[in-house]
Amino acid sequence: MWCEQCRQPVEDEELTEAGACPECGTVLREERRPVPWHFKLMIVATVIYLVWRAYQGIGWLVHHV
Ligand SMILES: [Zn+2]
Repeated sequence: MWCEQCRQPVEDEELTEAGACPECGTVLREERRPVPWHFKLMIVATVIYLVWRAYQGIGWLVHHV
């Protein structure tokens, strides 16, 4: 790992629990989260929107055919 703030290399073992530089606290190693929660939320919102639009489309067809 290379710390830009301290301009010196930081060993993996020296990193804090959060993956930050022990000298300045800059996070050098991001937590490995599989999928961010807001990304999941966005997908759920998109699916709900599409289902709603499909529902509206079917309703329109039923009333106009
Ligand atoms: Zn540092």
